Amino acid sequence: MKNKGNIEKIRRAVAAGQYYPSDEKDLSIVIDDYLEQATVNNPAASFRQAPQVLIAPHAGYVYSGRVAAFGFRALLGGNFERAVIIGRSHQAYFNGVAVDSNDVWQTPLGDVAIDKDFIAKLRNSSSMVKINSQPHQGEHSLEVILPFLQKVLVNNFKIVPLLFGDDEFTNAQWLGEALAKIIDDKTAVVISSDLSHYPEHKAANDLDRETIKAILTGDPAAFQLRAASLPNLKQSSEVVTLACAESAIMAGMVLAQKLALKPRLLKYANSGDYFSETRDRAVGYAAIAFFRAEGRSEPPPSEGRSSFLSQNEQRAALQIARKILAGAFDEKDYHLPSDLPKIFQEKRGVFVTLKKQGGLRGCIGNFTPDIGLAQNIQEMAEAAAFSDPRFTPLTENELKDIEIEISVLSPMQKIIDPNLIEVGKHGVYVKKGARGGVYLPQVAIEQSWTREQFLNSLCEEKAGLNRDCWKNGVVDLYIFTAQVFTE
Ligand SMILES: [Zn+2]
Repeated sequence: MKNKGNIEKIRRAVAAGQYYPSDEKDLSIVIDDYLEQATVNNPAASFRQAPQVLIAPHAGYVYSGRVAAFGFRALLGGNFERAVIIGRSHQAYFNGVAVDSNDVWQTPLGDVAIDKDFIAKLRNSSSMVKINSQPHQGEHSLEVILPFLQKVLVNNFKIVPLLFGDDEFTNAQWLGEALAKIIDDKTAVVISSDLSHYPEHKAANDLDRETIKAILTGDPAAFQLRAASLPNLKQSSEVVTLACAESAIMAGMVLAQKLALKPRLLKYANSGDYFSETRDRAVGYAAIAFFRAEGRSEPPPSEGRSSFLSQNEQRAALQIARKILAGAFDEKDYHLPSDLPKIFQEKRGVFVTLKKQGGLRGCIGNFTPDIGLAQNIQEMAEAAAFSDPRFTPLTENELKDIEIEISVLSPMQKIIDPNLIEVGKHGVYVKKGARGGVYLPQVAIEQSWTREQFLNSLCEEKAGLNRDCWKNGVVDLYIFTAQVFTE
């Protein structure tokens, strides 16, 4: 986190060690594990885009982390730069919405800055949002979702932490409408709420099913009606609430309706499903995502694996490349760390680019590897430094001036229609018989090329094929996206 000369006000984690592991590595492993498990039967896989609004639970990770992961996994691959996180205070009671005045929130996975500009915009639209850090201090419900966001949002994102102090649906309605006016594609909204509290296991299933049904109508009025039924339900069950952040859910539903998003249940469970000793006093958990309607002419994302590296994973990747270059000169053998995240074992294409004073100093890639990501980075860094035929081998004197850029490729996907290629987003691999060539997505941007120019150059200059061979269906075309990051 850059300090601009002012002392930053930091909200330190209060739920670490209690709701989730306080050790960075332990926390990272737990979330990776949950995210991995959440690939199985996750309905989010059938959507082409990440959801913009998400409802996720906030109990201790051993209770609700697996369900939460189904929701957060859906955010992977979304190009978000900001997360508005909305909850309901579990301790304080006040009117309106409290926004935290700190500069930074800290978790064991690192610091996340608060988006002051977005907050200013929101406050301009109503006095309902008040700067008030007090309710945030001991509140766990927003903090516990932050480590998940730190894992799945790949950009350097900021947060907007908002807490309701009551269950007034008029306030919730207002917040949803205010957000709808200022939200953009780079903003994800996460509603932090658990469902029913303390009915026995079977009753919790039944109660939550009805509450989820109301949310899945997408109609805030249906949810309001459901929430209003609580007094009647209390007579026959030990239920004290149907959702501990009803106002936050309401705000999310109003926003989703304004944005014409469609809700989808990704996962439901209650504490009794994981811990039989909680069966007579269960708490319900759901991950519900609100997706944009489909219909864009974009190919579906490649299935199965996660497509992006988190910020920590990016740092680890750059460290591997940096150490292999340094190791080439100091005669010490460099061994890959044994505790790298799982993604480093995936067989992913990699390009390593070395730049010196802004100019290219070597770039080598391997986009169809039969080795894991970590080893591929290692080999490509070495090749870019010492085996790029366009350059002399790197010298020790130059090393301090070298900037390393890594492009990690998504799995290749074969396409028939070249119109599916989005300039700047997709890299392309063209192949015919023994001839083939590949361009990274950023090449089109660097050269200011149109799709036609991009493909013409790829076929002619890279693959040695006819310039317009891509037009008549005689070549195989594969597309991929690349995550590009530098030191
Ligand atoms: Zn709660």
